Amino acid sequence: MRAWCALLFCACGPIAGDVRTEALVRGADGVHRVEEVTLHRVKSLATLEGERMTFAAGAELKIEFDLSRGCALNGLDCDAKVSELRAVVIGERRTSVRPRFALNGGVYRPLDFDTLNLVTAYRSIDEAQEFFAALAVDPSATAGPAPVYYYPNADSLEKFNLSATDNAAYFQLVDGFLVLPMEHLEKVPFSMNKGVVFHEYFHRVFALRVFGERALRAFLAADLPGFQSILRLRAVNEGLADFFGAIGADDPDFIAASLSQRVADTRNPAFTHTMDADWLDASGPVSGDQYDPYPPGSCFASFMWQAQASVGRDPTIAAWFAADQAIAAKVETRLRDVTFPFVVNAIVLGFAGGDRAAVCGIAKNVFSVFESELSACP
Ligand SMILES: [Zn+2]
Repeated sequence: MRAWCALLFCACGPIAGDVRTEALVRGADGVHRVEEVTLHRVKSLATLEGERMTFAAGAELKIEFDLSRGCALNGLDCDAKVSELRAVVIGERRTSVRPRFALNGGVYRPLDFDTLNLVTAYRSIDEAQEFFAALAVDPSATAGPAPVYYYPNADSLEKFNLSATDNAAYFQLVDGFLVLPMEHLEKVPFSMNKGVVFHEYFHRVFALRVFGERALRAFLAADLPGFQSILRLRAVNEGLADFFGAIGADDPDFIAASLSQRVADTRNPAFTHTMDADWLDASGPVSGDQYDPYPPGSCFASFMWQAQASVGRDPTIAAWFAADQAIAAKVETRLRDVTFPFVVNAIVLGFAGGDRAAVCGIAKNVFSVFESELSACP
């Protein structure tokens, strides 16, 4: 019988490079199972640190201002550098995570749920980084890796309508990912659903390419029309994140593994969703008493999914990463003009002329409510 060896007691130096371990993996039949996998680019298995990734445990995140009140009412100097504003309003403390493995047959097998969760998340984040790096848009290349806060002390998150449990999220204000404990949902945890991880990773790509360091200032300084644009960009962000989530999972129904089929269907990019006139000024849709970005977002996901089916995945992805720079420029110069027609026209202009007619046919269906404003379409 092979001897078991608890990792932390091995006198074998840091375990690094390609490491054989186990993770939760979605099979071709759609069922998630624990399977042997290889983790790449590991710097230290003992803290699950990667070449481009760090996990942090027990972090305390303190967000010391109220976004709805602007900088002056929060007692801040509105003209200060963004990095100074950030230092004033955001604090954190953190330590390393401590995964537990047993070495058996050359495979480091997770000994508890948290370790399996961390390893599975590591693998999906690494794949997302590879995916976006191949497109030359991985923000880690310039901004460095974002920390992954595992089960942070998250009381302050409720201020931002971020749940303190049952979630995995990119949190722009701290430029980090949050993995929160699952307490109510009983399906695949978000952090173990590769489509959800790609979705969240895209949020970082979007945040840094569209807003960058402008984000905090834009949020603090936005007047009402500017704030409506910020809400519309949330919707676009969610829709594109679902589009890239579906690509990462290789499954447009990836949300169903973690949430109800009913909710998953409302966001499935393979279904046709159409824009409602009431959503254009961002006064709706509303869920509870909060803006709900997902219904308008699903129109963008649906548009992108149909476009890739029509003209191919590569030109569709390229069109978005041209459009996002046009959007970023508009955020900088005149935030209030970032309307849904502006965004759709920017995406259409990202396609080569030959593909544009096919893409416009899709746009005129999904966004028929403002068809007359699709100036990029012939
Ligand atoms: Zn999202």
